[in-house]
Amino acid sequence: MPFTAIPEIGEFGLIDRIASLVASTLPAVPELLTGIGDDCAVFRPSAELLQVSTTDILAEQVHFDLLTTPLQHLGSKAISVNVSDICAMNALPRFALVSIAVPASFPVTMIEELYVGISHAAKEYGLAIAGGDTSSSRSGLVISVTMIGEVSPELITRRSGAQPGDLVCVTGSLGGAAAGLKLLMREKEIMLNHIENNEPYTKSVISDLNEYREAIQQQLLPLARIEIVRLFHAKHIQPSSMIDISDGLSSDLQHLCRHSNTGALIHENHIPIHAGTRRIADELQDDALTWALTGGEDYQLLFTISKERYQAIAENRGISVIGEMTDPESGVHLCDMYGMKIDMESIKGFDHFSS
Ligand code: ADP
Ligand code: MG
Repeated sequence: MPFTAIPEIGEFGLIDRIASLVASTLPAVPELLTGIGDDCAVFRPSAELLQVSTTDILAEQVHFDLLTTPLQHLGSKAISVNVSDICAMNALPRFALVSIAVPASFPVTMIEELYVGISHAAKEYGLAIAGGDTSSSRSGLVISVTMIGEVSPELITRRSGAQPGDLVCVTGSLGGAAAGLKLLMREKEIMLNHIENNEPYTKSVISDLNEYREAIQQQLLPLARIEIVRLFHAKHIQPSSMIDISDGLSSDLQHLCRHSNTGALIHENHIPIHAGTRRIADELQDDALTWALTGGEDYQLLFTISKERYQAIAENRGISVIGEMTDPESGVHLCDMYGMKIDMESIKGFDHFSS
């Protein structure tokens, strides 16, 4: 077999290869309605109920840096990112299994802190921690969470199902998590420079981060949009398709379009970007729109809905209509401030193996 380095095929190319290797296992379980390819797998234990399941890893130096991440926050985030995938199916979480690989040098209190955060978040979302696994690690802390949720068959929402003409909607605002990450990286550099030069890293050299509180919180302590799912359930709304924004709006919208066999046209001036995020981008001489399109980790919900059904949620100010689904031949485009259409394929989201 020829040697192929993983970056040549990228994260999604790798998942495609895995999917073809495990495809032959699927016929054994006809109750498994959806396997690889959506935010959760979907299993039908009975005619009235669907069970959805997901798993997400957080690895030290890949997903987090312990120099800038309080462990309680990290525990909460490990839960929230999984709840976010459950919410992306229009489902509600029930329980989770938490596995950790820990360097033997860690003090016990660090793991206790982690679990204070895990338990706190679990209680907030109304889910139980039902088990897990513990191992030593030779390459940093790794946390893996597997989560199970439930939804009725009338409400389940997949990435597929959008129709041309459906509205493209996004909850909350985008780009804040990327802004928070940039600020934390700047702070870390200042800290390491001081340590390298043998200068004390005291309060006087720490930037006053209070004014950036919101963005930093969005990075360290993202919240899954479970109240939007509760709103959908209360109004019996089944969006035509949905995904959570973990890789960036550009990449995640393209996932919806590919799975639904549609195109899409969204408008730059309708993308919700917080004024604070724009201010940070100006300060760091960066671009808030790029953060919103490719930064990822915002954990907002991106969904499509028919114009008629949208009327039931039109009053919700936390939901923005950013464009419309189109026929597949039109492709996936962003219409910028000047009316220029930019092909979203040229705007890349996060890939674990891209340089
Ligand atoms: P998300 O960002 O929503 O968590 P991912 O991009 O991680 O989704 O994964 C996309 C799909 O690929 C999901 O359905 C997931 O279950 C599947 N997947 C990812 N990695 C693996 C793997 N190593 N083995 C089997 N399935 C995988
Ligand atoms: Mg997801």
